[in-house]
Amino acid sequence: MKPEIKIYLSIVIPIYNEAKNIPDLYEELLPVLKKLEKSYEVIFIDDGSWDDSYPILKAIQKKDPKVKLIKFRKNFGQTAALAAGFDYAKGDIIVTLDGDLQNDPRDIPPLIEKIGQGFDIVSGWRLKRKDKFLTRRLPSAIANRLISWMTKVKLHDYGCTLKAFRKDVVKNLRLYGEMHRFIPALASEIGASITEIKVNHRPRKKGKSKYTIMRTPRVILDLITVKFMLSYSTRPLQIFGFFGFITGFTGVVIGIILSYKRLILKHSIAGRPLLLLAILLTVTGIQFVTLGLLAEIMVRAYHESSAKKIYYIREIIDSDSDES
Ligand code: UDP
Ligand code: MG
Repeated sequence: MKPEIKIYLSIVIPIYNEAKNIPDLYEELLPVLKKLEKSYEVIFIDDGSWDDSYPILKAIQKKDPKVKLIKFRKNFGQTAALAAGFDYAKGDIIVTLDGDLQNDPRDIPPLIEKIGQGFDIVSGWRLKRKDKFLTRRLPSAIANRLISWMTKVKLHDYGCTLKAFRKDVVKNLRLYGEMHRFIPALASEIGASITEIKVNHRPRKKGKSKYTIMRTPRVILDLITVKFMLSYSTRPLQIFGFFGFITGFTGVVIGIILSYKRLILKHSIAGRPLLLLAILLTVTGIQFVTLGLLAEIMVRAYHESSAKKIYYIREIIDSDSDES
């Protein structure tokens, strides 16, 4: 086996039908990375492209052993592609960027510099975003407000792929759905320090955007999931148990009063509606608590089962490793 090579920086780029952009992207990236004078690797994840993306990537990889390729069996989505990149990356710092040249590779050094200042995540903020207003920028502005408010992690631009991460904060994240945009929020749960810097954004010149306005409902649903996972108060037993405790307690108190009347004062309680209420409250109280317990078990089981893989790899090409 070859000795493990220590790598400082991993660049992770998801690619889905970006054949026309890949050569330019690589040409722009190379001088930026060379200038850093640090060890690096560039990981392209081919997310089931059906254009010439993969042959083009292979040709680049052949000439440059610092380029590594992961080819998915089919299109699993941008989140899965980024997750595969995170799993495979060996660098201490991981930088993600889009494969369509909308992000500017020249923003990478400032991102890394911020990480050097002690932040765990540095997120790009596309101040002058070059996308359509009505279908992209407006929904995104609303989403950013909403996500910031709900997750308490205040960022102006969650949707920007250009971000830098310290390795340890992303290595243990479990991503699925459209979850990649929520990484800062998820990482805040494990105490990551997060900041943002303004980055350049350019219009897409070649190829098509892979998303439409139809993405919005999915993002909102994922936001609910993230909120659910982040907030302690949504643990089911705490909610159901609270109601169960109140109803059960009231039922028992009424029951005690009625028993006192029946047993000590020798009153007849058979015709009292309050008796029914006492029984009802006690039983619902017990049911609330057991329901909470069941929900708790289901939530746990759900989290365990989410260890399921969200992508399947057809091929990995990496000149540093023995497998290829
Ligand atoms: N992408 C991907 N899998 C997908 C959709 C997109 O890997 O299913 C990649 C795509 O190739 C690009 C990046 O994710 O590198 C961002 O996609 P796009 O530019 O279409 O998104 P937009 O900038 O329009 O939000
Ligand atoms: Mg784009």
